[in-house]
Amino acid sequence: MRPSRRGLAHLALSLPAALAGLGLSSCPDAASTPSQAPVAPPPLDVKFDSARAWRDLEKQVAFGPRPAGSASLEATRKWLEAELKSAGLEPVREPFKATTPTGEVEFSNVYADLAAKGGAEAPLVLLISHFDTKRFDFPFVGANDAGSSTAVLLELARGLAAVGPRDVAYRFLFVDGEEAVRAQWQDPDNRYGSKHHAAQLKVRNERARVKAAIVIDMVGDKDLKIERDDYSTAWLYELFASSARSAGLEKHLSQRREPIADDHLSFLEIGIPSLDLIDFDYGPQNSFWHTHQDTLDKCSEASLGVAGKFVLAGLPALERRLAAPK
Ligand SMILES: [Zn+2]
Repeated sequence: MRPSRRGLAHLALSLPAALAGLGLSSCPDAASTPSQAPVAPPPLDVKFDSARAWRDLEKQVAFGPRPAGSASLEATRKWLEAELKSAGLEPVREPFKATTPTGEVEFSNVYADLAAKGGAEAPLVLLISHFDTKRFDFPFVGANDAGSSTAVLLELARGLAAVGPRDVAYRFLFVDGEEAVRAQWQDPDNRYGSKHHAAQLKVRNERARVKAAIVIDMVGDKDLKIERDDYSTAWLYELFASSARSAGLEKHLSQRREPIADDHLSFLEIGIPSLDLIDFDYGPQNSFWHTHQDTLDKCSEASLGVAGKFVLAGLPALERRLAAPK
């Protein structure tokens, strides 16, 4: 996943030029001063059960390594579908084949929609986690990457489904194949599932409805601090960071700031405002990332709870912004 700093320059150059200006150009009021800021909307009355999310994380780790195309990832997929159904949602499979450096691989995303009160024309927000783990020649169980965000997204789906339709529609999107097949992250060998879903949005004429894509990744770290990713759309980051501060989560906002390649790039590339909520500082000098040390004992139930609250804290402000007349 994600390039080293050395690889970033290449990646930045490969992004559309329009990307850099996406946030500000689409949002002239993003830098409004506190005196101009409206009163915060009421918080969402959504229950986020961090104990259940932790059990969901344990469940994924128990499936073992879950690389794209594996039987264990299919078992994970079936479990996700069953859990989404139990939450009253209708999971949809999005299977596809792609050529990778090691040959053709069969991938399949899974998503479920929570329709809006306003019906099929309402704005659509994508909430996203990848659920594959990186393939290694040692048993890599990916507790944090990507068990944690998958568990958080599943619990968010349950909570939001229980509250029912809102002014915007939500899509809970579990993407396959975020991880590079090669050892190193080098385009186009990564983000297979999110790139496919982005392409399908156009095929299904859904692209215009999608107003934001929120990716969560690596949110289980005991010492959870969400970073400022420089690729992310500025107004989206500010909206979520501001909401997190108001919700008392300021200590979970990192001072780190860097460009991080993740699934959000697939949606930025088609012009959708996108945000990556990630803690890319996992263990000393990120030494637990993509190693045998990415195990349950490095993660905590409390951090899953913080990640859930972090997302939920930003949604009312996002909903209000998307519902506002243009
Ligand atoms: Zn990874």
